[in-house]
Amino acid sequence: AVHSNPHTTLITPDAPVTAATHGGRAKCLQRLVRLDLPVPRTVALSFDAVHRIAKGELPDIAAILDEFPPDTLLCVRPSSEDPDWGGPGAVLNIGMNDARYVEFCDSLGHDAAAALYLRFVQAYAVHVARLDPDMFDDVSDESAHGLRETLHAYEAETEEPFPQDLAEQLAGVLRSMARAWEGTSARLLRQAKGAPADAGLGLVVQAMVPGVGQGECGSGVLQLVDTTTGLPQITGRYLSQSQGRDALGAGVEALYLEKDVRGRSLEDVAPAAFADLKRHAAHMREKLREEMQVEFVIENGHVHILDGVRVARGGRAAVRIVVRLVQDGILTPQEAVMRIEPHSLNELLHRQVSPKAKRDVLGRGIPASPGAATGRIVFTSADAQAAASRREPCILVRRETSPEDIRGMHAAAGVLTERGGITSHAAVIGRGLGLPCIVGASEMTFLTDKKQIVVPDGRVLRAGDIITLDGTSGQVLAGEPEMLEAALDDAFQTLMGWAEDASDIGIRANADSPADAQTARNFNAEGIGLCRTEHMFFEPGRLTVMREMIFAESSADRAAVLERLLPMQRDDFVQLFRIMQGQPVCIRLFDPPLHEFLPATRTGQRELAEALGLPVSDVIRRIEAMEEYNPMLGLRGVRLGVTVPEIYDMQARAIFEATLKASQDGDPVVPEIMIPLVSAKREVELVKRRVDAVAAAVRAEQRQAFDFRLGVMVETPRACLRAAEFSPYTSFLSFGTNDLTQMTYGLSRDDAGRFMSDYVNQGVFREDPFHVLDTDGVGELLKLGAERGRETNPGITLSICGEHGGNPESIAFCRAAGFDYVSCSPFRVPVARLAAAHLAI
Ligand code: PEP
Ligand code: MG
Repeated sequence: AVHSNPHTTLITPDAPVTAATHGGRAKCLQRLVRLDLPVPRTVALSFDAVHRIAKGELPDIAAILDEFPPDTLLCVRPSSEDPDWGGPGAVLNIGMNDARYVEFCDSLGHDAAAALYLRFVQAYAVHVARLDPDMFDDVSDESAHGLRETLHAYEAETEEPFPQDLAEQLAGVLRSMARAWEGTSARLLRQAKGAPADAGLGLVVQAMVPGVGQGECGSGVLQLVDTTTGLPQITGRYLSQSQGRDALGAGVEALYLEKDVRGRSLEDVAPAAFADLKRHAAHMREKLREEMQVEFVIENGHVHILDGVRVARGGRAAVRIVVRLVQDGILTPQEAVMRIEPHSLNELLHRQVSPKAKRDVLGRGIPASPGAATGRIVFTSADAQAAASRREPCILVRRETSPEDIRGMHAAAGVLTERGGITSHAAVIGRGLGLPCIVGASEMTFLTDKKQIVVPDGRVLRAGDIITLDGTSGQVLAGEPEMLEAALDDAFQTLMGWAEDASDIGIRANADSPADAQTARNFNAEGIGLCRTEHMFFEPGRLTVMREMIFAESSADRAAVLERLLPMQRDDFVQLFRIMQGQPVCIRLFDPPLHEFLPATRTGQRELAEALGLPVSDVIRRIEAMEEYNPMLGLRGVRLGVTVPEIYDMQARAIFEATLKASQDGDPVVPEIMIPLVSAKREVELVKRRVDAVAAAVRAEQRQAFDFRLGVMVETPRACLRAAEFSPYTSFLSFGTNDLTQMTYGLSRDDAGRFMSDYVNQGVFREDPFHVLDTDGVGELLKLGAERGRETNPGITLSICGEHGGNPESIAFCRAAGFDYVSCSPFRVPVARLAAAHLAI
């Protein structure tokens, strides 16, 4: 008997069936059998059996047939390990032949009998005899006449009569399905979905419940939740006198299931069957511990369950579904956390293009900041601000952005750039603001002077045209497709609470403004891990003061101008401290080259000359004198702190004065101050001495005590190598993996976007190293730095604050290396937290 053969086995409660040997569908059917649900008799063929069939070695067909009562119609369905990997389509009504047709004409009626036979002949012709499906286009209808035409066409084409023997039919179907799976195109298709090269296919041979015939007969699907929202809602379709997934066909007038405003329903037509079905579905949900789509057939009023598949769902629905499963006592919170893929949270955190919307794709770029935004194209930051003042959503289009564009980016609904990669200015700021952003869209031609973009198919976009950015996929779309709003509802909050309980590495946020800090707080970040203070100098009214400071001739002049910036910085910090309510706030001292704050255009230079009361030629000369060949490796970071120390003095004072102020009316604040771009111990000594002096001065002036922590940002290879030297002077090391990646590879973070896809496609890099931490190279430096830092300062706090902080794989690395926390853009905090929980559970 078949039972003894593990490769071809009748599905009984204790048959040796597993998803890894017989596929997901076979395993699921066994679960349904165990639940005592009315499942038609089924034989499962293992991956191994199917593989042998493809090679021409058939199983014992007679033994399979012995498992079914004589004259049963059969169907064969695919059962791959993961249902997402697809498989050949099901073949129904195997066993139909001329004799059965005549019998069925008596028992079921002519139309039903013809429909059964016709369906099988067509499937057999296309899949087994490999005839062209087009040849049936002219078949008149599903009546006896149509059947005769179809059989005739089959015989004319194959020059053979249609096979009448069940064993021969079944063998043919099994062979064709097994071979279809091994074909090149099927293989490529499933590999694209993540299947391994040798993924197996199982098959199930199931007794047919025809779905056509006398009394109420038909087929359909039912599920207990809405696929898009995940909210409880009986959904599905049912079609009388139908088979397979007919009820779901386009243009089919199927019935809804539940009685509602939409007209007749299954509940009206067959109330008892509907009640049974609901009961079975609820039973499946509870015992299979999952929301299932139930495939069913009704035969003369009786329900049969043919299959159950996990309800397909988007990110939002997934969260609601698992949270309700926990609330109903079906899953544990940890199981629910594990069922949500961290990246899928992006769908909840931002507006999305609705999955139902039609997409007119204009072009593609690197998806640098998720979410979708629609607006009118503007080509300058000034135009973006003008649009915002008219309350008109706009998309800021630039070849690349620079710090001067910050205000334009704040004003825009989304940002599109021609150049740049995942850590370019536009990408970093976009993620920080939660602003959808696509960078490196080099397949589109940006004619910014003409205010036009030419897209690959030749269409020309102009200022004022409406486009939509899908920052999740990197697609630029024409017009305004339908959107889904962000869904930070109770279910989301509940899930995040469970993730927080489970995770064992801290998650902080990179936040530069009060708005960022508020977002960080809303997502329960455990503090700010990086505040890039320079962004504060681009605020209205400050840039000119900043430029005055840069143009100051003497140290005294500079200090005088900085006096004017001091209260502004102090207010910034007071706000951050208040919002963070006593949580740690790590402030990085000024980092970028000063040159970035100077106007690049002649108009800007003229305006500056006017503001400073200097001749334009002077201004231009000074600007040119400050130009550097390699600004990222030039006078920036701590190098400015050493050579133009007044800036750090002012910042330290602003931080300390804000500390005292915010501590007066709130939780005591212990600020963290971080020195960027360190490469030598002496740099740390020099800055530390001055910061300590400022702290002493503020304490003395205000006659109040406060604490602070000084740390080093480790973002040059030399800082990793020499961490043992300076760690005794510092409370923490925060690895800036953006610069560290740039310097380790000698790869410009602003220019790599141009060729990154070539490098990834040709396998030079497995992934963009600015996106996923290069654990082999940069990671090695991280480990060295951490180890050497701990050697001389065992209690030192370790963290990363580069863009990698929000990437699940990179978080795994940091956790394994014993880091205390990671810091990422505020909108990535939930993704990071869920990833951290996955690692800890
Ligand atoms: C870094 O270099 O990783 C970092 C966080 O600093 P920034 O991106 O501002 O250079
Ligand atoms: Mg840096």
